[in-house]
Amino acid sequence: ASRASGVIVLDSIRAIKNMIDTNVEELGRLDSVAGDGDHGIGMQRGASAALLAAEDAAAHEAGAGSILSKAGDAWADRAGGTSGALWGLALNAVAAEVGDVAAPTATVLASGVTAALAAIARFGKAQLGDKTMVDVLSPVAIALTESAEHGLTARDSWKSAALIAAEAADATSQLLPKIGRARPHMEKSLGSPDPGAVSLALAIDAIAAVMNS
Ligand code: ADP
Ligand code: MG
Ligand code: MG
Repeated sequence: ASRASGVIVLDSIRAIKNMIDTNVEELGRLDSVAGDGDHGIGMQRGASAALLAAEDAAAHEAGAGSILSKAGDAWADRAGGTSGALWGLALNAVAAEVGDVAAPTATVLASGVTAALAAIARFGKAQLGDKTMVDVLSPVAIALTESAEHGLTARDSWKSAALIAAEAADATSQLLPKIGRARPHMEKSLGSPDPGAVSLALAIDAIAAVMNS
């Protein structure tokens, strides 16, 4: 187990939790356009539980992968909702790829996010363009893979991925929801971004700030 990557993971989960606390009302508002309005509160429950679990694991000298896995389990247990289950799966998929490595390389980040995307797609069955968090995670996985192939550092590849994530989340405004709770109210959602896509892009940005600090 390495302290370096464990600290980045713990700091990242804390940054995500703080970002959710700041945006809890806005995420709820976005989910109330066509969904059931609980995305902010669900993400807040999940991220808060994940941070407690991550702090506990880190206090026991756990490495990055173990911290992520404990955080993912806590998130899925406590968040409720579709996005909570998907975040739990995603964090566990990243955990399995990352393991307890010394330092996350660009290649590890790319394979971790690619594994998270595969886990979410397998469980949730969303296709690209269905107006879900997949519409952010998919271009991010592609961008990270290309950055790693071009030899970018982990920090630079994540930084450019965060910009792509923000653009992709914005672009979901133009989509009609094909899956999930927003599906029955699809026309109401036009012009408003998908809440799960927005929160994911904000989380990726919060991690970018940690990697740049
Ligand atoms: P719920 O819809 O159960 O109330 P949330 O409001 O917390 O859960 O999360 C809604 C978000 O979950 C959506 O905005 C979307 O991004 C994501 N989502 C819902 N269903 C799926 C799915 N099948 N695959 C991927 N993401 C999904
Ligand atoms: Mg909801
Ligand atoms: Mg709900």
